[in-house]
Amino acid sequence: MAETNLHQTLGLRNIINVSGTMTGLGASIALPEVAKAMAEILPQFVEMNDLQRKAGKVIARLTGAEAGFVTASCSAGISMAVAGAITGDDLSAIELLPETKTEKREIIVQMGHVVSYGAPVDQAIRIAGGKPVLIGQATTCYDFHLEGAISENTAAAIYVVSHHVVHYGLLELKRFVEICHARNIPVIVDAASEYDLKGFLEAGADIVLYSGHKFLSGPTSGIVAGSKKLVRHAYLQNCGIGRGMKVGKESVYGVMAALEAWEKRDHEAVRAREKAFLDLWQATLQDFAGVNPVIEADPTHNPLDRLRVNINPQETHITAWDLVDALARGTPPIIARDHEVEHHYFYLDPCNLHDGQETIVARRLSEELTKARSSNEIIATPLADRTKKSFDSLRRWPD
Ligand SMILES: *Cc1c(COP(=O)(O)O)cnc(C)c1O
Repeated sequence: MAETNLHQTLGLRNIINVSGTMTGLGASIALPEVAKAMAEILPQFVEMNDLQRKAGKVIARLTGAEAGFVTASCSAGISMAVAGAITGDDLSAIELLPETKTEKREIIVQMGHVVSYGAPVDQAIRIAGGKPVLIGQATTCYDFHLEGAISENTAAAIYVVSHHVVHYGLLELKRFVEICHARNIPVIVDAASEYDLKGFLEAGADIVLYSGHKFLSGPTSGIVAGSKKLVRHAYLQNCGIGRGMKVGKESVYGVMAALEAWEKRDHEAVRAREKAFLDLWQATLQDFAGVNPVIEADPTHNPLDRLRVNINPQETHITAWDLVDALARGTPPIIARDHEVEHHYFYLDPCNLHDGQETIVARRLSEELTKARSSNEIIATPLADRTKKSFDSLRRWPD
């Protein structure tokens, strides 16, 4: 339900999220089953290692992994998997991290995969005692880059699956795994936002990480799944760097509920609902000169389409980013997906809407485009100013 007194009570803006599952906006709409499970377990005591064993069974069933557990986030999962690959089950090494007893702490990653998901991938490696070894160049990576980087100091290799990474010129997962496995190097896959719970392990990954709070609509959490040995070594980090990344009983149980709901979800119905939103927005925008709305498939092949709204500022009298900002300032604030906005387009993501919000989005788009069209000048804020403003505002927090 979008109608709530919560925002009023707290004095917060009740935004409409058409940007996707953004952690900074509260990630996703948690399912009622998830909320119920969390409320149910909160007043109870449980033995956490046993609860995590139960969660591991559910994770194993859905992913095909041998074992699994729940931690604070996918980012935490990366750090714990890296740490586990370095320390094994040596508890004294686990307590020593991020300092290491061994030089065998190099973690290979393609340069085109070193992205920021809100924090840099390589930092998740470094805080776990890993030494990132970047291979290839931003848009190229060949077999020889990977083969040449593997040495007796290599502890693991990481592969990132995401719309953030470079989508051409890099090694595909299957080849990446083949080369690593030929030299006994385990492969850790960051699949935070990927709906495919089985494919990466099937492709040979040894350990795979998902976010619980993205497509799964669970609590803020990370899911670690993979071979029993590597998952165990990652789990043992709860006695070390993983301590500050732990989740409570409510999130472990909440993830179990989210995974079970995922098994039962009517995925076709969800797609049909999202398609109806995209059709509505596309039809609305088609009336405006200089706006070209195109339905586009998800770049990593999740069963999810978005509306790409191409803007010609000469005709609309507003740039794509000024339109995005106008929507965000409006009532209600609407947050669009704008990470490629310098190319004069933004996206509308249909997967986090409460019923009825789609028509508000359509109306607000019409209002702002109509208003811009009647402006004599082209509304065009320099992009660098916009970026600076957002960092300035962050640095002022909590003011
Ligand atoms: C969102 C994301 C993360 C971080 O996930 P959290 O669970 O929020 O830590 C990591 N990697 C990728 C590719 C992501 O999209």
